Amino acid sequence: MPWPLFIISISITVALIALFVVVSLGPAVLVRHAQDTELRHYTRGRLVLTYDDGPGKRFTPKLLDLLAQHEARATFYLVGFRADDAPQLVERTIAAGHEIGNHGYWHRNAWRVLPWRSMRDVRDGFRALSKRSTRPMTYRPPFGNLTTWSWLTARSHHAPVYWWTCDGRDQSSSIPDPSVVVHEVTKAGGGVVLMHSHDSGEHREQYVLELTKQLLHAAGVNGWKVCTISALTGGGAHWKGEAAA
Ligand SMILES: [Zn+2]
Repeated sequence: MPWPLFIISISITVALIALFVVVSLGPAVLVRHAQDTELRHYTRGRLVLTYDDGPGKRFTPKLLDLLAQHEARATFYLVGFRADDAPQLVERTIAAGHEIGNHGYWHRNAWRVLPWRSMRDVRDGFRALSKRSTRPMTYRPPFGNLTTWSWLTARSHHAPVYWWTCDGRDQSSSIPDPSVVVHEVTKAGGGVVLMHSHDSGEHREQYVLELTKQLLHAAGVNGWKVCTISALTGGGAHWKGEAAA
């Protein structure tokens, strides 16, 4: 191939890749930014406990027991293949009054797989959970990573997408003292807290239980309302531009 032609084809390829990245990530970044602002507004005086990656056959029952003791309702972002593997736990979670949401079927990182694989992950997640619940569901992207493609797939299921305002850090390499997270939430006057409900080892699981207890205590002391993610703004319309689900 002559040099000019070679350079032109390389330039076109690079331009197409750059365009693909911008189209794939640009709208998703804007959606997240808009939601961060809105969530911080809505969560003042409210506490939303969210648990990703479950159900965990060993841990989720302990967590459900604790929440029942405190008569607290939480939101569980379930992974489809685990829900299929433990349907009784999904049913128990729903029967206890908690909200379930989709966290992908295989927990694919949308930034690291091809668009159609992330779209299938979102779609199959809804399909698995809709066998257990007919209620409208929200979606939380695995690893918090959304693309235009996974967002459009969630929206085609009428599902708003939710992140969090405070990371509980139960999956961090170095887990902090629960009081550190409680302090962050207190300083913000409430929040949507990210934790996990799958079986992740005794140490991390005990931390989640302790953090949950301390957050609920802080809610009582500060007069925060404890609610599910959909209840945050009254059942579906959660930030500007999002229609009620
Ligand atoms: Zn996850």
